[in-house]
Amino acid sequence: MVKSIVSRIRSLKKEKNAVILAHNYVRGEIQNIADFVGDSLELARRAMETDSDVIVFCGVDFMAETASILNPEKKVLIPDPGSICPMAQMLKRDDLVKAKEAYPDADLLLYINTLADCKALADCVCTSANADRVVEAMDSDTVIFGPDRNLARFVEKRTSKRIIPIPEYGLCPTHHQISVDDLLLEKSKHPGAEVVVHPECVIEIQEMADCIASTSGMARHCSISDADEFLIGTEIGLIYRLERELPEKRFYPVSETAVCPQMKMHTLKKVEVALELERPVVSVEREIGDCAREAIERMLRIS
Ligand code: SF4
Repeated sequence: MVKSIVSRIRSLKKEKNAVILAHNYVRGEIQNIADFVGDSLELARRAMETDSDVIVFCGVDFMAETASILNPEKKVLIPDPGSICPMAQMLKRDDLVKAKEAYPDADLLLYINTLADCKALADCVCTSANADRVVEAMDSDTVIFGPDRNLARFVEKRTSKRIIPIPEYGLCPTHHQISVDDLLLEKSKHPGAEVVVHPECVIEIQEMADCIASTSGMARHCSISDADEFLIGTEIGLIYRLERELPEKRFYPVSETAVCPQMKMHTLKKVEVALELERPVVSVEREIGDCAREAIERMLRIS
């Protein structure tokens, strides 16, 4: 059954000149058939570079929107349109308008985990892979930053800028629930393991880590580190990629419950149907897309 779906996906891809891009958190079965698996920054770059006519985006809504913004002439499909990032939903355009009024001289920098109508108001966008570099490159000494308050704390500690987080309680539910108790328990079970975490984790977890990086940065760290055991503090989908790429090393999740349900919504069957029917299509209103593209392209130039 799985074999026949996979071979159907392969032939549809060829027939439609399609590419499958997948985030590090999606199910293993999707990672196996994807043309590229990576973090938000890498996926944005791949989306911009592809010469395929159709992009099947296996990630959450804001990622597929970003691919569409960078490729308005291409067809971007999202196999399950219910794959909506709760963190991106926490920031509204009105919050940004108010923040810009309150801090008229500040730069507005948004995490890529935001919807297109918010990106359209931003001076620049960043990902977890480049947030500190992009913050430092902003013109103003004060930077309005949203929506993840944990990433905001991360950049605040690493840059010389004053960071104004918006909204006050923006966070990723999947990362925010990884607790210090979880980490202490896993450290007691694997005392020799390096601790590698994502900056969406709470600051107390970040402070206990040997490495803090985006998902692909975490994978790079594990590949070059001399250690052979790692405690991984992020969504558990990354462990599938790590075990596939580095079979000689051992990876343990800091929390088994760090699962993003939205990332797991894409299945092989849904990818097959999306390719077959060429829908659901992700599109962004032209005017919003043009403004948002400027903010994304500025990030790509900086990083
Ligand atoms: S892991 Fe967190 S930030 Fe990423 S898509 Fe899921 S809810 Fe959003």
